[in-house]
Amino acid sequence: ADRVVIVGAGQGGFQAAASLRQDGFAGRVTLLGDEPGLPYQRPPLSKAYMKDGDPKRLALRAEAFFAEAAIERVEGRAVAIDRAAARVGLADGRTLAYDQLILATGARNVVPPIAGLADAVASRAVVGLRTLGDAGLLRERIAAGGRAVVIGGGFIGLEFAAVARAAGLDVTVVEAADRLMARVVSPEISGHFLDLHRSLGVDVRPGVAATAVEPGAVTLADGDRVAGDLILLAVGVRPNAELAAEAGLGVANGVVVDGRLVTSDPAISALGDVASYPGPDGAPVRLESVQAAVDHARHIARRIATGDMADYAAVPWFWSDQGDRKLQIAGLRHPGHRTVVVPGDRLVVLSLDGDVLKAVETVNAPAPHMAARRLLAQDRALTAGEIEAAGFDLVALAK
Ligand code: FAD
Repeated sequence: ADRVVIVGAGQGGFQAAASLRQDGFAGRVTLLGDEPGLPYQRPPLSKAYMKDGDPKRLALRAEAFFAEAAIERVEGRAVAIDRAAARVGLADGRTLAYDQLILATGARNVVPPIAGLADAVASRAVVGLRTLGDAGLLRERIAAGGRAVVIGGGFIGLEFAAVARAAGLDVTVVEAADRLMARVVSPEISGHFLDLHRSLGVDVRPGVAATAVEPGAVTLADGDRVAGDLILLAVGVRPNAELAAEAGLGVANGVVVDGRLVTSDPAISALGDVASYPGPDGAPVRLESVQAAVDHARHIARRIATGDMADYAAVPWFWSDQGDRKLQIAGLRHPGHRTVVVPGDRLVVLSLDGDVLKAVETVNAPAPHMAARRLLAQDRALTAGEIEAAGFDLVALAK
């Protein structure tokens, strides 16, 4: 390949460009993004940046890096892929020719069909938290003080709730599911964080859906009406897969890729939030994490730069900072897994498929987390019996 075009200049798009150069790719690299400014990382938006507003920790690299690495940054929005001509069309009429195309378009916030919500989002009376622009607006509203309502008790909603509460706001979190972060974490972890947020003074309402929204208030399924000077919508994301679908590529909960992260067109790969790839158990998964975006990008770059045709096989991992707690997850949990809480003073939860270890959740326990990542990367599955026989000492087992 002589020319690689990357659509989407976020976490994964940036990494793909950087890794192509690290792996010795000598052709043209074009990084197309529709957000203004340098590529930046999103995790601090709901954490450190929401707290202190310091932009220094956001940019993935300084301006000079892109010139030195000969990565051509183009600001614009891709609106069509002409696969026959191998060209991407931009909203402003420009086109970019490619030999290899990498789709790194990420995801956007879901706006569920709740009465009044679409209008409230359109007028910015209710905001999501995805971009630097969103974070700036929410910081202004936190500074104004008062009451905050967070719709959605997932990672981003809870991280934001902790920051807003620490800034002195009255915070209510509304979650339709009967426990927090239910899609991803074990009931034990949900319970731990429910206790944490309540101890911080956050009014957490699990099992209660928002049924109507108007500027300044949210109505709940139980009839309660909660006033909010600030309302955050944080109920999840949708992959930005329309570009791929319109080009006739396979799309099913994201752009479908094979074990090498290639779409149904051999010249087009997809990564990160927008990609549905064969996960650790072979079943398709779409992960919303820095780890997936970065590791996918490295894998695709290596294939393009060196011709390495290996299948992708990285262990998923994730983190979330809420209050003074760092939750870390290694591996992939499924709702059907049974859980074992490891005895000890730090919270460590094993997720097991039958007898086989699949995931480990830890709170403020980085050493067992790192050990779990090593253990899950081994070819040989680890059983509950072996872990118990080792006194539940993951660090010792990983040595
Ligand atoms: P993105 O980083 O979203 O980049 C996609 C880019 O493509 C965007 O800039 C988008 O505007 C652009 N784009 C889309 N369509 C087009 C188009 N047609 N033309 C041009 N450009 C386009 N993950 C963790 O692992 N840990 C965390 O603690 C964590 N915290 C988070 C906190 C927040 C507030 C958010 C929003 C996310 C967080 N994440 C976290 C998730 C993580 O940031 C994402 O999984 C990651 O950014 C995905 O990378 P990506 O490259 O797939 O997509």
